[in-house]
Amino acid sequence: MKAMTPMRRDVLQIIARQRTPLSAYDVLAQLKISHASATATGVYRSIGWLEERKFVRRIASLRAFIACSPAVADQPGLLLCRHCYAVSSFEHAALGELIEEHARTTDFNIASVIFEVWGTCATCHALHGDAERT
Ligand SMILES: [Zn+2]
Repeated sequence: MKAMTPMRRDVLQIIARQRTPLSAYDVLAQLKISHASATATGVYRSIGWLEERKFVRRIASLRAFIACSPAVADQPGLLLCRHCYAVSSFEHAALGELIEEHARTTDFNIASVIFEVWGTCATCHALHGDAERT
């Protein structure tokens, strides 16, 4: 199905208006206000549809989702600010080659590669100073 249904639109709006990543159950709790019969399965389906079209991206280390631009969705590496949850993406071709080389030499079959780097963004560093303080 190709259509942006009212449910998918509302799921996207809920994720997009939140500053922090949302779990599917966070989305469901908010979605119930406008879609009383919404289920977790329906939310996961909507998120999957939005992910395929690069409207949202999963943050694996949080099991949560953010709204993103296709540019962010396309690059496998993420830099995530643990203070404000600002997200930027990066290409990791050289890292990927290192991992593939290591996998080859150890006869390891790679199923997926996720680079999520947590730290402090430039804005938060300027505001709060020391990167390691929370
Ligand atoms: Zn930040």
